[in-house]
Amino acid sequence: MPPPSRRPRALVIGGSLAGLSAANLLLRQGWDVEVFEQSTEKLEGRGAGIITHPGLFDVIRVIGIPVDDTIGVAIEGRIVIDRSGALIGKFPLPQVVSTWGRLYLPLKAAFPSEHYHLGYSFDRVSQAADGIVAHFANGESARGDLLIGADGLRSAVRGCLLPEAQPVYAGYVAWRGLVDENALSAATHRDLILESPRIAFDRVALIGDAAFVARPHCGMGTTKAACDAMCLAQALRDANDDVPVALARYQAGRARYGAGVVAHGRELEAHLQGIDTPEATRHHTPEAVMRKIAITRDYP
Ligand SMILES: Cc1cc2nc3c(=O)[nH]c(=O)nc-3n(C[C@H](O)[C@H](O)[C@H](O)COP(=O)(O)OP(=O)(O)OC[C@H]3O[C@@H](n4cnc5c(N)ncnc54)[C@H](O)[C@@H]3O)c2cc1C
Repeated sequence: MPPPSRRPRALVIGGSLAGLSAANLLLRQGWDVEVFEQSTEKLEGRGAGIITHPGLFDVIRVIGIPVDDTIGVAIEGRIVIDRSGALIGKFPLPQVVSTWGRLYLPLKAAFPSEHYHLGYSFDRVSQAADGIVAHFANGESARGDLLIGADGLRSAVRGCLLPEAQPVYAGYVAWRGLVDENALSAATHRDLILESPRIAFDRVALIGDAAFVARPHCGMGTTKAACDAMCLAQALRDANDDVPVALARYQAGRARYGAGVVAHGRELEAHLQGIDTPEATRHHTPEAVMRKIAITRDYP
């Protein structure tokens, strides 16, 4: 008799939005999944002002989480106001604005808590016969068929595989804030609508901010994180869970998307700094900024 087939096992490093998206998708595709999060305490809200795009909700629905009006606040468009509070630009663009916690909590609830491990800080990776082993700072280790680096901007997984890929100063600092609605003047209140070269390495995949960082003012980091997870899950399904084959396809398809997001961030940088190129000068207007920031955009 042939031996009983073993379920493939994924080790996900990082238990935030990218990690939980991948974990939930692979679990529903028949994988055993373990999530390792370095924080020793439950993750708390990490802020509001997450602009969403339809691709994020597609992933959430595939996981089986209902998407209703409570997922965020619907906005009709953007405005630009000057220092005096006067409206100097308006751009209609219906979108939903949410919070990190509103997306994290249902993703966390959808994943079995006994497989979500707090206090596991990834340290290094090693090869095993027909698999891969993650080693943690607490001295423990885990074996899997696939390691997913979803450990954010300063990814330790990426650091092991691509130590040369370091964050680069963008050349500017953007301040982003939230204000209490009650602190706005009546007029402003009324105007405010009233109310890395590689992302796959044999058996290791990078997703979310660990793979490519969409700068905050691109407003697409969360959707990109969820869609990276979806693309990875699809590649595994299409390759019948042959991890190296799937990761080669993930690399080929998704790296171009990530490069597009990074290029978009650089283009925005030129607009925001008012760099004196014909292209930037032509677009350095409130309308152009509203058209470029947090747009839904497909990259070939
Ligand atoms: C000011 C600001 C505004 C933003 N606005 C938007 C927006 O409007 N729209 C949008 O879509 N996105 C926005 N983003 C980006 C968005 O928050 C991120 O793109 C998204 O959270 C990426 O998720 P992630 O899971 O890849 O990374 P993270 O959320 O950074 O999660 C990484 C996780 O890995 C864990 N970790 C790190 N190292 C280790 C380790 N060694 N071992 C184990 N675990 C580890 C961390 O504790 C963390 O929980 C914004 C970001 C900022 C800072």
